[in-house]
Amino acid sequence: MTDAPKSRLRPATIAAHAAGTTDKASGGVVPPVHFATTFARDADYQPVNPDNVYLRSHNENVRVAEKVLNALEAAEDTLLFASGMAAIAAVFRTVPNGASVLVQSQIYWGTTKWIRDFCTRRQIMLHEIEASDINAFSQACKNHRPALAWVETPSNPWLRITDIAATAKAAHAVGAKLIVDSTAASPVLSHPLSLGADIVMHSATKGINGHSDVLAGSLATADPDATIWSMIREDRDCAGAVLGPMEAWLLTRGMRTLPLRMREMSRNAMALAEFLADHPKVEAVLYPGLSSHPGHAVAARQMTGGFGPLLSFIIKGGAPEALRVAGRLQVFHRATSLGGVESLVEHRHTIEPHTGIPEGLLRVSVGIEDVRDLEADLSQALGQ
Ligand code: PLP
Repeated sequence: MTDAPKSRLRPATIAAHAAGTTDKASGGVVPPVHFATTFARDADYQPVNPDNVYLRSHNENVRVAEKVLNALEAAEDTLLFASGMAAIAAVFRTVPNGASVLVQSQIYWGTTKWIRDFCTRRQIMLHEIEASDINAFSQACKNHRPALAWVETPSNPWLRITDIAATAKAAHAVGAKLIVDSTAASPVLSHPLSLGADIVMHSATKGINGHSDVLAGSLATADPDATIWSMIREDRDCAGAVLGPMEAWLLTRGMRTLPLRMREMSRNAMALAEFLADHPKVEAVLYPGLSSHPGHAVAARQMTGGFGPLLSFIIKGGAPEALRVAGRLQVFHRATSLGGVESLVEHRHTIEPHTGIPEGLLRVSVGIEDVRDLEADLSQALGQ
């Protein structure tokens, strides 16, 4: 067997080896956790290790996790945050008072809610737009000349697909930055930076960690010299929305299997989408892998290796029927979140009743279980 040159390693190899990280001091193939909050200076008052002064800015576990993510995302710089929302907030805090922003409508409700509040407080003009409609998006860019445009693809829980290359072009034509929330795709299935996005954001709480035991967020860029990126970096250092060492260590461990998990989850989700599409009690299935999905062609072009774990379907009979089906599921956990190894089901209308979510919609995050068990569970819960 010939050695794979390190510069050409593929994502599965980069992830499994945590981008080449070992513990030089002990020879361990797994790095230790570095808990120190502060670092010593020598007699001349110079840091003993020039890379380390204080935990809010300097931690080896955070650096390692950022290095792995950076390689998987094919980015030039990556920053981890204490949560996905902390990463989103760091981006929006760069927007000057009085400016305009364009935000995709009907995305993750937590994002929409926080941005609405923030923009009101800062006198920022917020325009919510259906960004999967590229004509509407381009027109909104021309009309409002936003400082930044925020899209989420695939979107949660509608599974709308936004054409990243086309939105980047429209945003850049008016001098706006394009930021893509790529949480549902993970850095394995989509590479927004290579399609022209200025920054890609993830709730690393989801597929990147994959084990429902770490809250984290990330931002990555292809242009670390951009002013917006220095503002974000400064914001994280000074405002302190940093990830703890243990969380960063767990994230690195989780990412070792990220490509493997994403492949299996996508395969399972595709099989369940096909099963549900044929079921007489199901009104509609929202999954970009289905050729009937309006965003399928764009998704097939801009996603590689699968369409992700997130899948929504609408049950005939509205909320009572959807809640009955959710209540009968035995393998799927009834819980929020997505991207973990275990399958989850959620009735989003119960969580966000005033946002237009269909009452019969169930959102599932498909895990890595044996798909026959998942299908049998859905089948018994739906009934005849
Ligand atoms: N973006 C998307 C698409 C999400 O689904 C979530 C959380 O569900 C977030 C952002 C927020 O991330 P976090 O919960 O890590 O703060």
